[in-house]
Amino acid sequence: MNRRRTASGGRARRWRRWRRWTSSRRRRGDPVSGAERSVVTVRPASSPHPAGATRGPRPLLEVRRIYAEEAALVLPRGQEIVGRWPEAEIVPVASHWQIPELHGDEANAWRWVRIKTEALVLGVKKSLVTRPNGRSADFIAPSTANGCAMACAYCYVPRRKGYSNPITVFANIEQITRHVARHIAKQGPKREPDQCDAESWVYDIGENSDCSVDARVSDNVRDLCDLFRMSPTAKASFATKHVNRDLLEWDPLGRVRIRFSLMPEETARVTDIRTSSIRERIAAIDDFVEAGYEVHLNLSPVILTPTWREDWTRLLREVDDTIGPAAKAQLKAEVILLTHNAALHDVNLRWHPRAEDLLWTPDRQETKVSENGAVNVRYERALKASAVAELRAIVARELPSCTIRYAF
Ligand code: SF4
Repeated sequence: MNRRRTASGGRARRWRRWRRWTSSRRRRGDPVSGAERSVVTVRPASSPHPAGATRGPRPLLEVRRIYAEEAALVLPRGQEIVGRWPEAEIVPVASHWQIPELHGDEANAWRWVRIKTEALVLGVKKSLVTRPNGRSADFIAPSTANGCAMACAYCYVPRRKGYSNPITVFANIEQITRHVARHIAKQGPKREPDQCDAESWVYDIGENSDCSVDARVSDNVRDLCDLFRMSPTAKASFATKHVNRDLLEWDPLGRVRIRFSLMPEETARVTDIRTSSIRERIAAIDDFVEAGYEVHLNLSPVILTPTWREDWTRLLREVDDTIGPAAKAQLKAEVILLTHNAALHDVNLRWHPRAEDLLWTPDRQETKVSENGAVNVRYERALKASAVAELRAIVARELPSCTIRYAF
């Protein structure tokens, strides 16, 4: 009881210090966040022609066409992005939501990877809303991008826009960052620990994309992380399947939580298309902890293959053997069993039927209507409950330093 009062007193003191610090900087006209700084200086692109690690011969990004809303093109961030690929053709579009040649043609499954590599969309995020969450994070911040250059077979991100779904970057980053800064300020200090975090409000900043790849396209993710870096009451958080070592230079001061997504390598080879290998993700953990990130694990999606127990045992043992004491001391994980979708199953059969052998097992799956009304399938309730319990036991045995924040 005493300890808790002392801890929350410390948080309140830090919060008051931060308020004093930001007010005095504002009085002097100095910027207090990355977004404000970008008004007065333009940070050069960290990788002018980004090309991330991939599994195949095709680079992750080789942008040839930029589909752009006019309102996005005139903003400084839009200009910066266009400047990174000066040879790219600019294709004007009325709305980033309606580009049939990118999103609509499901019969062209064979062209998707090429579209993901060569096309980029520039848009303006119209609705700026921070939603409560309570599972992985306390809040979901408005996206700074949606879509992805990778192509995981189970990915839910393309379900709204269409299945090739290359990256759309939102150029109004200053508005987005100001919105998030206001939301953080309004919360004040966190008074009670919850499963998201003991001390800080956690904001998921990557609900609809992979921030590590987005950071190869623009400084949007860095600007948001800079805001959290200066926010003693809040943390940014995102899950990723891509190792982008440029992020090691950002000095996030513990205010950014990266959740490396892991699954057994033999399953990932079939389902995680264009991602960094599982071994590369595990090998990155210590480096990111050393660089000032909080690093958690996103054990997801858990796919109940015939050998899942042995495969997860081997994977977690490898993590335990690889990471050092500093990473273990702060390690936590979330566990999420596979959710799939009948429409995605039909589309996947056209381009990647092998993945569907693992993902689509209707004799063990049942229909589930999600919060947004989508009709999905998940493992039957009893099977799911026993698999969660078994996986919890495997984590406790093979990676005992890791607490599970939640599992479902
Ligand atoms: S990395 Fe994430 S956002 Fe990208 S395709 Fe895979 S699951 Fe979807």
